[in-house]
Amino acid sequence: MKKIGVLALQGAVAEHMKMIEQSGAEAIIVKRTEQLDDLDGLILPGGESTAIGRLMKRYGFDEAIPEFAANGKALFGTCAGMILLAKDIDGGKPESHIGVMDMKVVRNAFGRQKESFEAELVVNEVGDDVRGVFIRAPLIESVGPDVEVICTYKGQIVAAKQGQYLATSFHPELTDDIRIHQLFVDMIVEKREESLC
Ligand code: GLN
Repeated sequence: MKKIGVLALQGAVAEHMKMIEQSGAEAIIVKRTEQLDDLDGLILPGGESTAIGRLMKRYGFDEAIPEFAANGKALFGTCAGMILLAKDIDGGKPESHIGVMDMKVVRNAFGRQKESFEAELVVNEVGDDVRGVFIRAPLIESVGPDVEVICTYKGQIVAAKQGQYLATSFHPELTDDIRIHQLFVDMIVEKREESLC
């Protein structure tokens, strides 16, 4: 069984744990860098990217997570987690971030009057009728050639994939639809199979 951690420095953790388990993997709460050694993938939850960036630095994750990624391990960021995965951040750079995905994100991109909202989305490789829960959400303003856009909302990019990395502006863990977490688990399984052939 694949082991997937949820970075538990700040933000929604329990909901991701439940989704990982429902997708057929083992879920681990990650609070110390040594725990990464045992994992196949890591989820960076939503919350406040400024706070998470500060805590990542304090506990050494600012170096440990890029190293984990360089070893081919998978990362999935939702909302603030997506901000931390992006190379380029507009609207306030956190003290530390991971910067492995070749894209530029804009924080709090939907404006005050639209701080939180829900929308029905179509996500490539996942399907239709994906309920997107957006909470002070960022969007992806531009992507590099290796990034695959898997979802747009009103012409704006809200989910993307690059190699073993996945990012969504919205919060799939706040619904009861496990398909996006299942995609992440499948990305890890497929990668393992590729390296065995
Ligand atoms: N607005 C937050 C940020 O910029 C993200 C919000 C969220 O994760 N729900 O970090």
